[in-house]
Amino acid sequence: MRVIVVGAGLSGLMAAHELVRNGHDVVVFDKGRGIGGRLATRRIEDATLDHGAQFFTVRSDEFAAHVQTWLDAGVVHEWCKGFADIDGHPRYVGTKGMSSIAKHLGQGLDVRLNTLVFSLTRTDTHYVATLDDGVVHECDGLILTAPIPQSFSLMFSADMEMPVELRSIDYDRTLGLLAVLNSSDHNVPTPGGMQFPDDVFSFIGDNHAKGISASPSLTFHANPEWSLAHFDKDLDEIHEFLLAAAAPWFGNSTVVSSQPKKWRFATPKSTWADPYWATPDGRLVLAGDAFAGPKMEGAALSGLAAARALAASLRDGC
Ligand SMILES: Cc1cc2nc3c(=O)[nH]c(=O)nc-3n(C[C@H](O)[C@H](O)[C@H](O)COP(=O)(O)OP(=O)(O)OC[C@H]3O[C@@H](n4cnc5c(N)ncnc54)[C@H](O)[C@@H]3O)c2cc1C
Repeated sequence: MRVIVVGAGLSGLMAAHELVRNGHDVVVFDKGRGIGGRLATRRIEDATLDHGAQFFTVRSDEFAAHVQTWLDAGVVHEWCKGFADIDGHPRYVGTKGMSSIAKHLGQGLDVRLNTLVFSLTRTDTHYVATLDDGVVHECDGLILTAPIPQSFSLMFSADMEMPVELRSIDYDRTLGLLAVLNSSDHNVPTPGGMQFPDDVFSFIGDNHAKGISASPSLTFHANPEWSLAHFDKDLDEIHEFLLAAAAPWFGNSTVVSSQPKKWRFATPKSTWADPYWATPDGRLVLAGDAFAGPKMEGAALSGLAAARALAASLRDGC
């Protein structure tokens, strides 16, 4: 059966793999320039900086089995077992940054980047996705993995309903700063990660200490309250505020280069009780981190569960 997956983030890529494994013909569309969605890594000069997800943990046996294959393939490595509190749970990172996990998962899949799914329509037997260049793709089933408000606008275009509790899920915003430094003589202690270090930031990550960056570089994420209060300001002003707030952490090092970053849909404020949601015909399924938990593990497990649910509906409909 022909399946379209909207979104080449972790959820969409895990779903696509599961569907291909089940013999379906899958195409993944993503509006972004790079693969990975919120698994995002940027190069600035010699530095490599994660600017979305910073690390991940593993709680379930199902996710552990996938992570083991990534460890075996050298795609991820353990960063540490905690930050201020060493709690013993491994924190993993992509070996060349978090986007390397998405690049690994994208191998062998038909992933089309720079491709916005603009609208959906439904016939008695099929779904039709219209892309932003007007090209039309017909399919037997669809998985939408965009943040809920974006999936809702696609469903709205097809005159399809979504439960009000689902469409009410809201997301925290994150304002971030990427800073390349001239030395590692900064104030972020070993192992190079600090959670809620002060009243502006929710996380500071040392990309060199993580093992992904040749040059010293820090990623700063402002907390949800600060991000909301400053989100609509001019980007230059946000950049200036973030540099000022980050200054105490630079220590004796100097900023060589820096960039601000905005995430409108960073983390869902609440999650749906089930790992996916499907339309009554079972042929359109929603997945992502708003379902199985607001982190990478939740996104991955939701994508897998959505793919299994869609495969079952397609099988039953045959
Ligand atoms: C700043 C920040 C820090 C984080 N830190 C951590 C962390 O340390 N640990 C952790 O576990 N998690 C963290 N997370 C959360 C983690 O990144 C997410 O839970 C996970 O990556 C979500 O994956 P997803 O596939 O559900 O969604 P996404 O990665 O958002 O993928 C959805 C994709 O859909 C695409 N899309 C949307 N609409 C359309 C359309 N109409 N047509 C085509 N494509 C479309 C988007 O471009 C996007 O690529 C963080 C997130 C952010 C933003």
